[in-house]
Amino acid sequence: GHNNLNAKLVLLGDMGAGKSSLVLRFVKGQFLEFQESTIGAAFFSQTLAVNDATVKFEIWDTAGQERYHSLAPMYYRGAAAAIIVYDITSIDSFARAKKWVLELQKQGNPNMVMALAGNKADLEDKKKVTVEEAHAYAEENGLFFMETSAKTAINVNDLFYEIAKRLPRA
Ligand code: GDP
Ligand code: MG
Repeated sequence: GHNNLNAKLVLLGDMGAGKSSLVLRFVKGQFLEFQESTIGAAFFSQTLAVNDATVKFEIWDTAGQERYHSLAPMYYRGAAAAIIVYDITSIDSFARAKKWVLELQKQGNPNMVMALAGNKADLEDKKKVTVEEAHAYAEENGLFFMETSAKTAINVNDLFYEIAKRLPRA
């Protein structure tokens, strides 16, 4: 029906931040302590019911390594949504996330729904990036922000649900 929506979604962020783990948690409800690193990119799809609509996410999980950087535009071009992931225990991964946001602001679809995910929220005792800092940054840049844990599943479904709710309806 007309309430069905396909949405291309891309995950970007530093290698090791937990992009693949977030997708695995969302799509299969699983978590691997030794998740293999992604080569190039991997594709998944998952459907979510939101209010009166069904959103089918077409998810591109990218690699994150610098040597694959030139491929990234293929995945974010035409994307309706992006999740930029950092690891709350890594200042460097937060800096890398900000670079991705800049790149999307310059080259991405201007209507793209952008989410900032501070992943590994279960590692509270090793936290280096505060919620306040990330939240302020997200607000300044028009992203919505959530801390997530692919390990415990905290906020993972909510993240995708919030994106689905924000997608422009035809
Ligand atoms: P990617 O390179 O961004 O795709 O990151 P991966 O999904 O491959 O995850 C990198 C490592 O971090 C793996 O060993 C995962 O098991 C681990 N990891 C991912 N998400 C979490 C999380 O929420 N909590 C914890 N404690 N570890 C995580
Ligand atoms: Mg990966």
